[in-house]
Amino acid sequence: MSAGASKGDTDRRLGRRALLAGGAAAAVGAAALAREELSRLWWRLPGVEKSRVAGAVDFRGARWVAASSANYRRADRPDDYPVDRVVVHVTQGGYASAVKVFQDPGHRAAAHYIVRRDGRVTQLIRELDVAFHAGNRAYNERSVGIEHEGFVEHASSFTDAMYAASARLTAAVCARYGIPVDREHIVGHAEVPGTDHTDPGPHWDWERYLRLVRKARGAGAV
Ligand SMILES: [Zn+2]
Repeated sequence: MSAGASKGDTDRRLGRRALLAGGAAAAVGAAALAREELSRLWWRLPGVEKSRVAGAVDFRGARWVAASSANYRRADRPDDYPVDRVVVHVTQGGYASAVKVFQDPGHRAAAHYIVRRDGRVTQLIRELDVAFHAGNRAYNERSVGIEHEGFVEHASSFTDAMYAASARLTAAVCARYGIPVDREHIVGHAEVPGTDHTDPGPHWDWERYLRLVRKARGAGAV
């Protein structure tokens, strides 16, 4: 399950952004930065961020369903935060109920993706943005969160189609950010420091999953 908004998360982020933007603007005024330094920082100036296309997805074939903007923080990853982790979750419920809570502004949590039992992939938050899914601010900022439809206590939740689709998705994320395909960088929610969540649980076959991710990565099917 996704959990992750720490209190004041949004405010602190705005503060940091304002500080960076202010710092960059001051530097511009003082002509203290070299031209190349300025070009590197342009996106931090007020009102400047990467262009976005409504409904665009980061994973080819994913269906776009927007999460509530209360459940993530707008960002410009990987420029502002390097992305070096994938966090595997299990929804503890069906697909529809997961979408419903991710669209509920009161939930204060959501993941970037949901993979269904039949292998269909839905994206709810752009990878540019910090989804509140890991229950740990630093992990949220550095990771892509992937939910899997089902229950940790039911081995039957994790179908062949789900493993295959999720592995292709994780392989694509790893390719995009240069993330090594290993258990240090592809982790379960239960392994995130400070969490009390247990997903994906004992029935999630990590060996199989990593094998499939490596295969998809090697096949260049991303
Ligand atoms: Zn979780």
